[in-house]
Amino acid sequence: MPRTELDAFSRLYLNHGLLATWDGAISMLAGSGVGGGTLVNWMTCIDAPGSVRAAWARDHGLDGLDGAEWDADRAAIEDEIGVTASAFIPPKDEAILRGAAALGWEAAPIRRNARSCTDCGSCPFGCPRGTKLGGLRVHLPRAVAHGARVVDRVRVTEVLYDHGRVTGVAGNLLVEDPASGMPVLGPAGGPSAAIRRLVVRAPQVVLTAGALRSPAILQAGGTVHHAVGRHLRLHPVPVVAGRMADPVDIWRGTMQAARSAEFIDADGGRDGYVIESAPGHPGLLALAVPWDGAAEHASWIEASRHLSPLVAVTRDGGEGRVSRTGSGRVRVDYRLDAVGVRTLRHAAASMARLIRAAGALEILAAATPIIRHRVDGPDEPARFEAYLARVGTMDFGPNRGTVFSAHQMGTIRMGADPADHAADARGRVRGADTRVIPGLYVADTSTFPTGLGVNPMLAAMTMARRVSRTVAAEGRPAS
Ligand SMILES: Cc1cc2nc3c(=O)[nH]c(=O)nc-3n(C[C@H](O)[C@H](O)[C@H](O)COP(=O)(O)OP(=O)(O)OC[C@H]3O[C@@H](n4cnc5c(N)ncnc54)[C@H](O)[C@@H]3O)c2cc1C
Ligand code: SF4
Repeated sequence: MPRTELDAFSRLYLNHGLLATWDGAISMLAGSGVGGGTLVNWMTCIDAPGSVRAAWARDHGLDGLDGAEWDADRAAIEDEIGVTASAFIPPKDEAILRGAAALGWEAAPIRRNARSCTDCGSCPFGCPRGTKLGGLRVHLPRAVAHGARVVDRVRVTEVLYDHGRVTGVAGNLLVEDPASGMPVLGPAGGPSAAIRRLVVRAPQVVLTAGALRSPAILQAGGTVHHAVGRHLRLHPVPVVAGRMADPVDIWRGTMQAARSAEFIDADGGRDGYVIESAPGHPGLLALAVPWDGAAEHASWIEASRHLSPLVAVTRDGGEGRVSRTGSGRVRVDYRLDAVGVRTLRHAAASMARLIRAAGALEILAAATPIIRHRVDGPDEPARFEAYLARVGTMDFGPNRGTVFSAHQMGTIRMGADPADHAADARGRVRGADTRVIPGLYVADTSTFPTGLGVNPMLAAMTMARRVSRTVAAEGRPAS
């Protein structure tokens, strides 16, 4: 496992952590090591809200999602990955509990899939101690114990077909670049013939390259269902930070240990959201602080020990698209709609209220330019009202209000309508003619019919368990 932030981003994150929508407006983080996002993520485990599951069952025909089948799958997953309440509440999460108590808002400690943690805080580097119970530690070893073979450093490029039936996948083997130590396709400037190909023949293929890459793999293979790559949801995240009197050290200890679900339900023309703390090491922090000149940026980084950033995971208002370009790269487009903008503005104002109630000395709403407020002086209450009004009308046009995403979903969405859903209600992928392609399944967050509104790992694993039953049943030889 990497020991430093730079090495971790280089090796364990998609595009080395420098991933954005085509217009540069939304910075995205996604995992790319063996184990994917679960290797580097912050381990927050929240079940899919009942209202969202009911809507998925009602509006998208996902039978069983609003009842006992889901509950049993989720309970099995929680058991496998050891979901348990965080025993250690670091200062940035204490601030959420303190601020929410002062305001009379709902807040609670977070449950997570790691045990026996202390304050090492290397979770985004893959957890060198092995305490984090993600795909690499739980599901892949179990698969290997049952005969699976894991082949790392392969970039799958396409699905293979014969007469409309899946026959396997093909990909390129990556090699280590001696200069940088990075996995690359082949010697720089070398002939493309030097690229080594790998072909796996299989009667069943389950796509799990994540919502940003699974559609591109399908698109490389030719004509696809028209919904493949569409309906991308990102859970757009605004950021508001407080400068606190005491050191916070957001890189120490449990990544996320508390959240406020006060605004989880849609209301008054906005969608729902959950407020959480934003952990990070100095590199991620430097990326998140908007550029307002070298001196300004340096002063925020200098104050980083005292910064307590909050994020709001918003249920998408707006959607996007993943498409494969002519040169084989992947392009991600996304647009907020009016509901999305209202949600981000409401969330930014709520986070300002929360961190002020927790005792912040200064508040920073991440935008270009930065929107800041000092919590001092007799006129502060009146100035804060004016500040809230300003944050509540923030410009979330491209590259104005800062927006992040660590949750990507929906690009091969599951559902009952063959015309509208690129996969059926059990994860079987549909082709251009809207009929199911025999042997081809999808089992990652691409399957979500809409945004979820809470951190998606638990729901993604629960959904994968649902799909796995179909894969297993259809993979058995006929007796
Ligand atoms: C920094 C961070 C923090 C997060 N924190 C939380 C959290 O606290 N709680 C939570 O619920 N969720 C969290 N998430 C989100 C969660 O981890 C993801 O939503 C989840 O992992 C998505 O699962 P997935 O199976 O769809 O895809 P991924 O986990 O992204 O897995 C996709 C895998 O496919 C591989 N891949 C992609 N393309 C190819 C290709 N062409 N060939 C071969 N392999 C390929 C990738 O390398 C990756 O390993 C976080 C994510 C990040 C990045
Ligand atoms: S705090 Fe340390 S031991 Fe716990 S999950 Fe994170 S990296 Fe692993």
